[in-house]
Amino acid sequence: MKKLSSRTAGFTDSVIRRMTRISLQYGAVNLSQGFPDFDPPRELLDVLGQKDLPHQYAVTWGAQNFREALAKKQAHFTGLPIDPNSQIVVTCGSTEAMMAAMMTVCDPGDKVIVFSPFYENYGADAILAGAEPIYVPLNPPDFGFDLNVLEDAFRQQPKALILCNPSNPCGKVFTRQELEAIAALAEKYDAYVITDEVYEHIVYAPHEHVYFSALPGMFERTLSCSSLSKTYSITGWRLGYIIAPAGIIDVARKVHDFLTVGAAAPLQEAAVAGLNMGDAYYKALQDTYTRKRNLFLDGLDALRIAHTVPQGAYYILLDISEYGYESDLQFCEDLARVVGVGAVPGSSFFREPVNHLIRLHFAKQESTLLEALNRLENMKKLKK
Ligand code: GLN
Repeated sequence: MKKLSSRTAGFTDSVIRRMTRISLQYGAVNLSQGFPDFDPPRELLDVLGQKDLPHQYAVTWGAQNFREALAKKQAHFTGLPIDPNSQIVVTCGSTEAMMAAMMTVCDPGDKVIVFSPFYENYGADAILAGAEPIYVPLNPPDFGFDLNVLEDAFRQQPKALILCNPSNPCGKVFTRQELEAIAALAEKYDAYVITDEVYEHIVYAPHEHVYFSALPGMFERTLSCSSLSKTYSITGWRLGYIIAPAGIIDVARKVHDFLTVGAAAPLQEAAVAGLNMGDAYYKALQDTYTRKRNLFLDGLDALRIAHTVPQGAYYILLDISEYGYESDLQFCEDLARVVGVGAVPGSSFFREPVNHLIRLHFAKQESTLLEALNRLENMKKLKK
């Protein structure tokens, strides 16, 4: 038999999603893949329970009422006028949005700047799009970047920069000043910016989310990717989107059309109820996640487990250096099997040879978090 595609040789299946399967196998409290164990808002479920939902293909770029509701909501939060008819393509999650954005912008051989640590998908996205990542480190403990290092990366004439803000896995929320510095370089070196803003509504005071596309002059070179997964607790509905100028969306629509045809029609219909919710919903979401963050971090402090403090999103990194493991993947397997808590090995997120960190998330009911903390008390059993 002939060899299968060499394109896929450069990456493995997702370790994040593999850890969910391992957690299921050992009955571990799954704090690996980031998704909630609580229900979406009632308003969405009520629509989902109706009998007259659409069951055939929606318009390929997204159902008209979904795009209109999305344009209105994002215009409200970004302050930008967004045309639902020419500036949006609705995708199967931000995962497809990012892949489609990368294929819209890049030819094989093009370079893209990726901050490290980075969300695991970007590596595979780049390979599948034939692009070559240039990694720029975000330096702990505050995960800032060195502007000179970033400019050096821009000197290599990348086609685009990938910006995950708020950032998974390090919880960084880029400041306006940092974003302005990135914008100045994107302009100077004529690069596109592809954003992944799925945690746009999960930000902890005093930090604030600034939409990159809303910076002066940036809309024209930004492909804003996001999803409804985290905002409305519907990760399994797979609803995401790209917003960009019409000329870019024309191309992104072609990629999307042949990748997936479209996102699920009945779910788009139900999600409109979410997009139409007022400011109070987003305020309550922030409050909920702030409480979860505090509960989980306080619990870890009580166990004397050192951790990062996220400014946004719902992930923390733990340092496992003292446990004497050579492989963070092995540590996570043992953590799931012996302690009963699912985590993701940090090496999935770093370009650098990092294997002393693991990632946990706290998008769970308080009772689940308390159970996880209870189990984490046994983490010392793993010490070699
Ligand atoms: N963003 C989530 C995480 O990092 C998972 C998303 C996914 O698996 N598609 O865990």
